[in-house]
Amino acid sequence: MMLTEICKKKYNKTIKECSNEEIYFALLDMTKELAEDKVTEDGKKKVYYISAEFLIGKLLSNNLINLGIFDEVKQVLAENGKSIYDIEEVEPEPSLGNGGLGRLAACFLDSMATLGLPGDGIGLNYHMGLFKQVFENNYQKETANPWIEADSWLTKTDVSNTIRFGNCTVQSRMYDIDVTGYENRTNKLHLFDIESVDESIMEPDGISFDKTDIKKNLTLCLYPDDSDEAGNLLRIYQQYFMVANGAQLILAEAKEKGSNLHDLADYAAVQINDTHPSMVIPELIRLLMEEGISFDEATEIVTDVCAYTNHTILAEALEKWPVAYLEKVVPQLMPVIRMLDKKVRNRYKDERVYIIDGDSRVHMAHIDMHYSHSVNGVAYLHTEILKNSELHPFYEIYPEKFNNKTNGITFRRWLLYCNEKLAAYITELIGPDYKKDADKLQELASYYKDKNVLEEILAIKKSNKAVLKDYLKETQGIDINENSIFDIQVKRLHEYKRQQMNALWVIYKYFEIKKGHLPETPVTVIFGAKAAPAYTIAKDIIHLILCLQELIDNDPEVSPYLKVVMIENYNVSKAAKIIPACDISEQISLASKEASGTGNMKFMLNGAVTLGTRDGANVEIGELVGEDNIYFFGESSEEVIEHYAKADYVAREFYEKPEIKKLVDFIVSDELLAIGQKEALTRLHNELIVKDWFMTLLDVCDYIQTKEQVLADYEDRMGWAEKTLVNISKAGFFSSDRTIAEYNKDIWKL
Ligand SMILES: *Cc1c(COP(=O)(O)O)cnc(C)c1O
Repeated sequence: MMLTEICKKKYNKTIKECSNEEIYFALLDMTKELAEDKVTEDGKKKVYYISAEFLIGKLLSNNLINLGIFDEVKQVLAENGKSIYDIEEVEPEPSLGNGGLGRLAACFLDSMATLGLPGDGIGLNYHMGLFKQVFENNYQKETANPWIEADSWLTKTDVSNTIRFGNCTVQSRMYDIDVTGYENRTNKLHLFDIESVDESIMEPDGISFDKTDIKKNLTLCLYPDDSDEAGNLLRIYQQYFMVANGAQLILAEAKEKGSNLHDLADYAAVQINDTHPSMVIPELIRLLMEEGISFDEATEIVTDVCAYTNHTILAEALEKWPVAYLEKVVPQLMPVIRMLDKKVRNRYKDERVYIIDGDSRVHMAHIDMHYSHSVNGVAYLHTEILKNSELHPFYEIYPEKFNNKTNGITFRRWLLYCNEKLAAYITELIGPDYKKDADKLQELASYYKDKNVLEEILAIKKSNKAVLKDYLKETQGIDINENSIFDIQVKRLHEYKRQQMNALWVIYKYFEIKKGHLPETPVTVIFGAKAAPAYTIAKDIIHLILCLQELIDNDPEVSPYLKVVMIENYNVSKAAKIIPACDISEQISLASKEASGTGNMKFMLNGAVTLGTRDGANVEIGELVGEDNIYFFGESSEEVIEHYAKADYVAREFYEKPEIKKLVDFIVSDELLAIGQKEALTRLHNELIVKDWFMTLLDVCDYIQTKEQVLADYEDRMGWAEKTLVNISKAGFFSSDRTIAEYNKDIWKL
């Protein structure tokens, strides 16, 4: 075993004598070396997946699994009195992403390497990542989350570029992280940094810093506060820095392989993950023009190279930068952007497709749609909504560009790693082939009625619940009942995801229990969510949940039957502990608003049953498992879209119904005001009554009724076990290996 030698060489110690930290660093060296052996010759063409976020999570165990040595390492450690699980606790988790979009990018890197495709990620090396969430006085507080240690997964390369902005110049440095494929090649995640970054400008006890000091702050934080002009400019600096470095890398690698740049599309496919990397289009055109290629030809070449993925129909999330900001930060790009806009204006009369609008704002997604060869949505329903409403004017012009790529998740992390017991049992039943060919999970269908199998599935769930119980006790000092139903909603906090509706259910159940209507089996409602620091109502919702948690914990009449837990700082490693323990997966976004969701897929794969709206990929989950094995409620996306079009949803009309009024008014009851802050609770109460932009009160009654049905059905243990087994067996479609194979077949064509 190599580990023994590395410990000897690095520390002059045996494995037994090493601390967990020393073993972690030894394993880091060992893994990097093994991963490097699997860096193989690229084919002619390579994919560059550019993304502002890569929510990669901890890498040690995953790399060991992908390199095929996890069990062996685990055993050697055990023989020396060490546990791989203790050692992975030593690894810091980088928070280079915010939520699903960044996690998708990480799953895609895993699948590209696993399928043997040359495909690298391009992003930024944020030193603090997104903030770390702590709870103080039942409120979210943001603190810095430094993760880079002297020894880490980052490898410094000798790639360094001079990047020019309007009023300053920075020197970049490329760092690489190995992306190991499952029993396949190693690709790279290239993270660009500035040489002059200075972590010491972070103010203590928070996440603020001087937003104008670009030479020090450029790569400090993901999504710095953009509530003022300096914050907006900083985001543009970051985006340009990412794509300028990426573009130089792409051209250098293509040239190295013999490209004359006219044939760039034979060497490079660029996937633009949401609009943050959109400036790569004008930047590539600018660089090609510097090489003597005409504007028209450069535009055609870049269009053939680039493809765009849309992740949202929320209008506020589609970036529009004021021309004045771009002039200030990236004056070299504005002439190109103006020429691109002019080309559009010469061809089309519809103002809705212009790149620069009447208010002198540059619509980044419009650049993407005109000057990419592919525009994709991330679930069937989402792509249909893009074509028929949100992006309809573009669909009319370019119907051939629009395509769907339903999201997926890597089964290595979200099954083999996070649920070893279930993976082992599946292997026992149907053999190991499903690990590489996820469709094989369907072979579990022959066990739907097998009592022994169903009992084993329930036993595995129960043991995963006990593991989560211990983890919560250790990390947050919270006691939960492993025999209760685990009802879980973990995802970013946003009104459209409607954590507030789940909180209203908690209030409903609280009243029921007070009335003496006790649930058959106690329920533990688990939330986990970060709110954007400037999103006041989202933070108020967290406050409400934490106040409910405290209220119920201190009420001996209610607490034996109902418990609320808000997990602090929800991230990838917490997800891996929470998801395998879930009974009910809450996917309750307002229909039409969740582009796909990927949390829904992780839960399904781990044997949870979905309670959700007909939104995003929930629709596809429903088609696969059948209506008996999923619980849908609420108005359809068509109905919701019509409410917006007619502006006919009036929250107050729903609020006036006594059964709803009672729940909403409890937010400002004496009981909750005694625990929480009046200002926050009143603001949230008012928001639900006078705005409720995401129509909580429209669906809340149907939600409560449906959830009662779910809880009743849970009591039929064999019936429930069958539902979970059906969900597991149908989850193969949601492997990101399938998604990536589709991207390659339809878009990249490697
Ligand atoms: C999968 C995942 C998400 C996305 O969850 P959704 O329910 O699809 O929004 C967000 N954060 C983390 C840490 C995840 O692992």
